[in-house]
Amino acid sequence: GSSMLEQEGGESIRVCIRIRPLNQRESSTGNSSCIDVQNPKNLLLKMKGGMRNYTFHHIFDVDAQQGEVFSETGVHSLLDSALEGYSCTAFAYGQTGSGKTYSMAGVEERFGRQDYTSDETDGIIPRAISYVWQRMASRQERYFVKSGFFEIYNEQVRDLLNPSSGVLHCRWNAKQGFFVEELMIVDCTNIDDLIAVLHEGMKNRKSGSHELNADSSRSHSILMIYFISEITSEDGHSFKRYGKMYFVDLAGSERLKETKSQGDMLNETKNINKSLFTLGKVISALGDKKNRGLKPHVPYRDSKLTMVLMDSLGGSSRAIMIACVSPANAYIEETTSTLNYATRAM
Ligand code: ADP
Ligand code: MG
Repeated sequence: GSSMLEQEGGESIRVCIRIRPLNQRESSTGNSSCIDVQNPKNLLLKMKGGMRNYTFHHIFDVDAQQGEVFSETGVHSLLDSALEGYSCTAFAYGQTGSGKTYSMAGVEERFGRQDYTSDETDGIIPRAISYVWQRMASRQERYFVKSGFFEIYNEQVRDLLNPSSGVLHCRWNAKQGFFVEELMIVDCTNIDDLIAVLHEGMKNRKSGSHELNADSSRSHSILMIYFISEITSEDGHSFKRYGKMYFVDLAGSERLKETKSQGDMLNETKNINKSLFTLGKVISALGDKKNRGLKPHVPYRDSKLTMVLMDSLGGSSRAIMIACVSPANAYIEETTSTLNYATRAM
């Protein structure tokens, strides 16, 4: 059918907010917090003109630990669905410096260790990798795991595992839908292989952006993990089942600053805005219960990001979004825009 697989509470996308602590620079320059968390679902934004109340599926206040973020976002239940053949996505949205990479990947120095359970360092992805490996071991099916990692920078796709391959093309065929042509896909036979994919891609995202004289906060990075299992039905027929999990660390959502952005920079900012704007439109079209079954026009083709995510945003797919914000009153405009974006996604 065309309705999204229902999550707890019936939502098609689960939207969480994470507020990072004020950093040293912010508190030493006299910033105070512009956000009051009332309870795990409601917060108050203290604006000049008064208070505004926002409601989300879950709000992580400044003292939330990495382990709590993994369990309360519900990523583990997306992974369970991916093992059953569904396509699932976890997004991190927010302005640069708001905690997207910290929430998704955590602290890179930790990669390669034996366990990923540290509440100060280990983010959603390494926890998800070790969770899913345990789950696979406890299931009857045998799984093959494959992974790819790419970024979209200025509407161009680059392979984060094979950076020398240059700009890759996005193609469409009837069997796969949209896919990135010639993307390097590696077989992963254990937790370490997948962590190595994450680590390598993150290193290349940084070094690549130095070479381009650009800023990695302006690219969207997409880690794909495929779970392929062979199912034998009661009549002895066997078929392959493809489940998928995407982890998306979105480009910084800060708005165009008219005075500073010119030429290339302006173009780039427009492209970032275009894909974030299109993603917002796609998600809200899908989340809108009125639209279920009516096949509304969903503008997937308007940006590379929504094209490559097309098969995991719609149909029977599931998604969560973590919108990250700084509590500093200096950033209240950006924070308002992030909270509004997250509200539209619900
Ligand atoms: P983004 O990816 O959104 O640009 P980062 O994840 O790099 O932001 O976070 C910016 C800085 O703030 C990093 O030094 C990071 O370690 C720190 N940080 C972010 N969120 C938290 C948090 N919840 N607790 C402690 N430090 C955090
Ligand atoms: Mg980042």
